[in-house]
Amino acid sequence: MTATFTLIDPSTGQAFQEVPRASVEEVDEVIARAVAVQRTWADLAPLARADALRRFARVVEEHVEELARLEVRNSGHPIESARWEASHVAQVLNFYAGAPERLSGQQIPVSGGLDVTFHEPYGVVGIIVPWNFPMTIASWGFAPALAAGNAVVLKPAELTSLTAVRLGELAVEAGLPEGLFAVVTGAGSVVGERFVTHPDVRKVVFTGSTEVGVSVAAGCAQGLKPVTLELGGKSANIVFDDADLELAAQSAPASVFDNAGQDCCARSRILVQRSVYDRFLELLEPAVAAWQVGDPRLESTQMGPLISASHRDSVASFLDGADVAFRGSAPEGDGFWFAPAVVLADRRDRIAQEEIFGPVVAVMPFDDEADGIRLANDTVYGLAGSIWTENLGRAMRVSRAVKSGVLSVNSHASVRYWTPFGGMKASGLGRELGPDAAEHFTETKNVFFAT
Ligand code: NAD
Repeated sequence: MTATFTLIDPSTGQAFQEVPRASVEEVDEVIARAVAVQRTWADLAPLARADALRRFARVVEEHVEELARLEVRNSGHPIESARWEASHVAQVLNFYAGAPERLSGQQIPVSGGLDVTFHEPYGVVGIIVPWNFPMTIASWGFAPALAAGNAVVLKPAELTSLTAVRLGELAVEAGLPEGLFAVVTGAGSVVGERFVTHPDVRKVVFTGSTEVGVSVAAGCAQGLKPVTLELGGKSANIVFDDADLELAAQSAPASVFDNAGQDCCARSRILVQRSVYDRFLELLEPAVAAWQVGDPRLESTQMGPLISASHRDSVASFLDGADVAFRGSAPEGDGFWFAPAVVLADRRDRIAQEEIFGPVVAVMPFDDEADGIRLANDTVYGLAGSIWTENLGRAMRVSRAVKSGVLSVNSHASVRYWTPFGGMKASGLGRELGPDAAEHFTETKNVFFAT
């Protein structure tokens, strides 16, 4: 009998499906198949690989509604967000479908012959993803990796495997060779760890907690394989006294409560210049009250439940003894509901330093530009951040001084598939997305032809 784990609908707390746990032997079989299929895939003409990825994108587009509904059930994402996520996967595939014909090498001047470089695929790439954005984060790895001529083995998070499994089936429906893009469900300590230790997996992309990321990186070092890490965050939303305060306050709830705060880019610290601190909080309160928390199946819902009962306990623990200024609303019932909370914090508080990964935001005042920058950089993380100011010079100074990989000025936009994404400090290593991502799934080979 195959071992399984049970999926629970976070909005009802009801179990609804069993998912197989792969054994190490099963993972090894999948990797062996991927090794064989990859060779033929890499030998295809660039146009043939591009066409195959465009067909995959089209099939995903045709299944946006089905994928979105799976995500609502499995992850509790509001339906409108889930539709965006599924469409995003198709767009990422379409974008990297343009890469095979553009992976140009160089011709370097040498005497006595010709020197050229090639972008060779690694072979098999292992991708390990977390539960917060199951489809989108997976696609940031598999689309450019496939485009560059690799095979991909993908491990979704235990709690949220369904959309990844369906994407694996859709790849085959779209005509990708069986085994080229293989989705393996199971435990991180079994499937994920086997990706790290298996000698035929030549690169690993890991998105998840900083703690597991460090152990994945250590394992990859043993096997001398490159690793991309997308880890935690504690991003700052910095509001200066010359900002459009109405707009900054109105947009703040979505920047931290979207996906119930289970977002590595969540602006979970709001830093407000002291001279406008009280006014900002006055404006923030109605914006938080208006934030719609409820049934993820309704199109009007902005925020659903948290992913699990244990995660809700962990989020709730951050409110013990905290100075809660005000809270939003949440439904009663058996789902893993949590009303958004705005907390007034001191700089050294746990709530100001640790990633909560829930709808809780810490608000702190700062004195001047230098103090604001110091406070923004006062965490181990460096993933994202927002800067609100009408002063162009200040926007430029602060965006260069904040040690984060992805910043936005007078906006909270962090993710566009055609711009690079990733963190500094404890938030990660390497970048995903953007114009260069396919190249990151290749090794440069230099060949000298003597004449
Ligand atoms: P997690 O680290 O517990 O798990 C992530 C994935 O790693 C899961 O698929 C898990 O099964 C697997 N895993 C667990 N142990 C493993 C091991 N020993 N070897 C290999 N794989 C293993 O993280 P989570 O709780 O699923 O996700 C939440 C975390 O992810 C948060 O900290 C969040 O900030 C981070 N995250 C970061 C980004 C980013 O892009 N920077 C994006 C989303 C989430």
